[in-house]
Amino acid sequence: MFDKILIANRGEIALRVIRACREMGIASVAVHSTADADAMHVRMADESVCIGPAPSGQSYLSMPALISACEITGAQAIHPGYGFLSENAGFVQMVEDHDLTFIGPRAEHIRIMGDKITAKDTMKKLGVPCVPGSEGGVDDVDDAKRIAGQIGYPVIIKATAGGGGRGMKVAKDEAGLEVAFRTARAEAKAAFGNPDVYIEKYLQKPRHIEIQVFGDGKGRAVHLGERDCSLQRRHQKVLEEAPGPSISASERARIGKICADAVAEIGYSGAGTIEFLYEDGEFYFIEMNTRLQVEHPVTEAIFGVDLVRQQILVAAGEEMEFRQEDLTIGGHSIEVRINAEKVPTFSPCPGKITQYHAPGGLGVRMDSALYQGYSIPPYYDSLIGKLIVHGRDRDEALARLSRALGELIVDGVDTTVPLFNALLQEPDIQTGNYSIHWLERWLEKNFA
Ligand code: ADP
Repeated sequence: MFDKILIANRGEIALRVIRACREMGIASVAVHSTADADAMHVRMADESVCIGPAPSGQSYLSMPALISACEITGAQAIHPGYGFLSENAGFVQMVEDHDLTFIGPRAEHIRIMGDKITAKDTMKKLGVPCVPGSEGGVDDVDDAKRIAGQIGYPVIIKATAGGGGRGMKVAKDEAGLEVAFRTARAEAKAAFGNPDVYIEKYLQKPRHIEIQVFGDGKGRAVHLGERDCSLQRRHQKVLEEAPGPSISASERARIGKICADAVAEIGYSGAGTIEFLYEDGEFYFIEMNTRLQVEHPVTEAIFGVDLVRQQILVAAGEEMEFRQEDLTIGGHSIEVRINAEKVPTFSPCPGKITQYHAPGGLGVRMDSALYQGYSIPPYYDSLIGKLIVHGRDRDEALARLSRALGELIVDGVDTTVPLFNALLQEPDIQTGNYSIHWLERWLEKNFA
């Protein structure tokens, strides 16, 4: 086992990893930019290293600075958290070239899943159901028209290098296809340096259902059920829950096994998420994330497992602590993402926290790096906390969420808390009846 781990991240996820390290008796090293010198992850880690100025390109994304920080502190492994370098195959390679361990999958698997055309092709061959669409990339308009005609409108044109909800264009009919196709390619080239796009059938009212998988890197893998992340704004998740209100035990067992078998087959190591759109009882693969997800705590709550601990064990060459038959679901969990943003524009709202009080009590988990007097810097993501509740069933989880939101005090900046208070009053949220378009429509109706 490692003696010391460096966490190449900041905010709540850095704290999350430090906590797992501490429980395992492993020393932790925080890295930070000059803007984060007073951040909670720096205070909480055993050691810290300043790796550069405020812009993340010169600090949290600086590979040489991170490697040097390991050399200076004697850290043997790097946990990347999510975002930043967590899905950068080149970084994994560099880490290994310096005889350090990357806590995550192999570079090869990150590379396959990072290119959506290759990812889809690989999943299809592994027996995972995919959205009907083009076989591989499409590079001229006439091909695009022919393929769209075959699969039927509406279609969505997606960048193979896309991510974060960017590089996607919907075409309702052939008239709209040419413009959508050209804009998608131009945007993909500008945003990702790669103009390659592919075409998929555009699903009208799907839910976003993702399966948590975990592999030991030696050909054994399990699944930990699904999370429903359909409540989205601009393709960004806002609230997540597990189990999914629309998924039956038999559907879970079926799609879960397909996913676990697929990652076992490729010898995948560590945590991964296979994302699907789910409509009329069918699952359609859209992408795989080769890292820990923001919303992993809802899965931890219902299965009673520590996913970061398992990541560390597997990276150190040890066995994961569960088999499929050990993994049973207990209760229901919901997470809301608390962002420093002004509702309804969702414009970022950095600033000083004048008062902070975290909710507590049975079934409440608050993952946040806030403290009273902390100044949220303007340079990074606006996520300032995740409130996760766990109840015996969905109704109890909802009541607990409402109660916990009432206890939370974050003064000094605007947050998304009022959004969640309003959402909890909605019958569709109370019953779990929502698709990926529900939130945008609701925002239009209530705030436009
Ligand atoms: P990214 O990597 O940018 O997050 P994804 O492929 O995961 O891109 O898609 C993000 C979101 O875009 C999905 O959760 C869904 O809301 C929407 N989306 C993607 N593909 C389709 C599709 N074929 N039909 C309808 N919506 C889609």
